[in-house]
Amino acid sequence: MVNSEQINKFIGEQLGEWPTAADNFKALEGVKVKELDVDGMKIKVQFNPARIVSSSAKVDAKSLAERKCFLCGENRPSVQRGIEWGNGYIILINPFPIFPRHLTIPDMGHVDQLIKGRIADMMDLARELDEYTVFYNGPKCGASAPDHMHFQAGNSDFLTIGEALEAAELKTVATDGDAVLAVCDTLPLNVFVIDAQDSQAGQRLFDRLYDALPVPEGEKEPMMNLLCYATAAGVRLVVIPRRRHRPSFYGTEGDDKMLLSPASVDMGGVFITPLEKDFNKVDAALIKTLFDELCLDAETVNQVVESLK
Ligand SMILES: [Zn+2]
Repeated sequence: MVNSEQINKFIGEQLGEWPTAADNFKALEGVKVKELDVDGMKIKVQFNPARIVSSSAKVDAKSLAERKCFLCGENRPSVQRGIEWGNGYIILINPFPIFPRHLTIPDMGHVDQLIKGRIADMMDLARELDEYTVFYNGPKCGASAPDHMHFQAGNSDFLTIGEALEAAELKTVATDGDAVLAVCDTLPLNVFVIDAQDSQAGQRLFDRLYDALPVPEGEKEPMMNLLCYATAAGVRLVVIPRRRHRPSFYGTEGDDKMLLSPASVDMGGVFITPLEKDFNKVDAALIKTLFDELCLDAETVNQVVESLK
């Protein structure tokens, strides 16, 4: 068991003993942020040059095989301490932060980034870390280490999707005891929401949704981003099904190209741009186009909902 207070203290300790991480967290205080209104949802855009490593990460099998995995214990810097948690995880600070408090939580084994069977873990962790949103990026949905299972977590007050969902209409699709699976089709991106007190019931509802979502050819699981956080009634898991890895205008060469490789944080309302020209160019229309390209369309969402009834 861990709690927010303990982890906040741990972050402070690590920043005191690890200059590189301390510099990167310090730099975060000065990053430029702008706010957009995308069809009624507040979206923040962050200009964060240090994230270029992640946004341009090569995640093809050959590149992965040629690099040392930065999440494996033997390759991590000795200054990076961890707190062991739950079923074989270790809680670390993320030395390339987006959030003022940013954690990486890898499995202690070098196993593929796959979510099946891990939702109860995710919900348990979100319940314990009640100031944090725990998130998961599918292997082709923003994960920069798709060969090593990991969650991340960041302070919840940073993201905007929680607030947007508070104000949105949720339509119940299925229930399991007190746990509810609902769909929200009124935000600029289509999402499913699971509210649960009991992590096992939450896991069962997620498994039903997982089985109903399309799996693109060549993929091992439905493409998705997941965000999970504590609420007054338990925990809320936001499932953002994806159909595409990167937008059609992804790239570095050419004026019309942008280095946007959206992951859970972006889908949660905070877009990260490592290049200043992209930061200046991003507007509400472009974010809407990106959501339309990357997320499941209304027709497919309806088919999934119907199959779950
Ligand atoms: Zn590894």
